[in-house]
Amino acid sequence: MSTTQTITGQRRGTISRMSDPAADHVLIIEDEANIASFAQMYLEAAGYRVTIADRGDEGLRIAQEEQPALVLLDLMLPGLDGYEITRRLRADGRQPIIMLTARDDAVDKVVGLELGADDYVTKPFNPRELVARVRAVLRRAEESGHQSAVPEDTVIELDGLRVEVGGREVFVDGELVALTPKEFDLLVTLLDQRGLVLTREQLLERVWGFTFLGDSRTIDVHVRQLRRKLGDACPIQTVWGTGYKVAAKR
Ligand code: CA
Repeated sequence: MSTTQTITGQRRGTISRMSDPAADHVLIIEDEANIASFAQMYLEAAGYRVTIADRGDEGLRIAQEEQPALVLLDLMLPGLDGYEITRRLRADGRQPIIMLTARDDAVDKVVGLELGADDYVTKPFNPRELVARVRAVLRRAEESGHQSAVPEDTVIELDGLRVEVGGREVFVDGELVALTPKEFDLLVTLLDQRGLVLTREQLLERVWGFTFLGDSRTIDVHVRQLRRKLGDACPIQTVWGTGYKVAAKR
């Protein structure tokens, strides 16, 4: 089997978010008015422009029409639930989503992250933590839209797997495979560090931009999804007790 990494001249344009009027716009989709206005107060104090939708269907419409920089999303909503909103927004693109989940509901978090949410905050939340999460997710979105550690024109080919970094597309035996933004970033991060073991904490830091408080399970969920989607072409190996790696070039 051949193992090659080639650089091609292929380059795709990225949209500059700096000049985008929606760059500081946060949409809160939450039917509990006191929670929504509490989050709004702190986010506005931090310099964000905030819109609140108290129904899921209305929230989805605003998210699609106004393209806010980030969506803060409750799960149980009248009209349309948060899972379905996440699914539909992910079908459209990479708009960052932070889910608001009930305390200790691990299933909610896992399902939401698998659907492609970027992060979650448990209710009741500390408003400073909420603002920090919003900043971190937006910073990562900005960086992945502009510059990544891996040059945009990189194409990685490895045993039936082809990763086009600029177009954010992954192919297995020539077939396009749909990955969530975080699955893609995790795969590219590991491919870029071939031969090195990365701990779950390092991966959280590099892919999510900060360390979740003790929740390294997020990484395991994403690796499991990558293995399911890529099948035998998934190059990620588990290093027991440590983390994950992609084997060095042979
Ligand atoms: Ca609710």
